[in-house]
Amino acid sequence: MNCTICKHGETAPGHTTVTLEQAGTVAVIRNVPAQICQECGEYYLDSTTSKRVLEQGEAAASRKVEVEIVPFAA
Ligand SMILES: [Zn+2]
Repeated sequence: MNCTICKHGETAPGHTTVTLEQAGTVAVIRNVPAQICQECGEYYLDSTTSKRVLEQGEAAASRKVEVEIVPFAA
């Protein structure tokens, strides 16, 4: 697909790191499958993946840690 940020980049499948912040917790989720723009590096997650990423972020927040770095778990 075409990137909606830079308008001219093409996206390709790859992996990215997603950082979420909620309730004072920064969750860094690594190795998240995504479509990544070859031009600007913007990433796009599908709905299933973004839901899982949010769940992992919430799980980190519920442990009340300041920073948590976890691999993506589908
Ligand atoms: Zn782009």
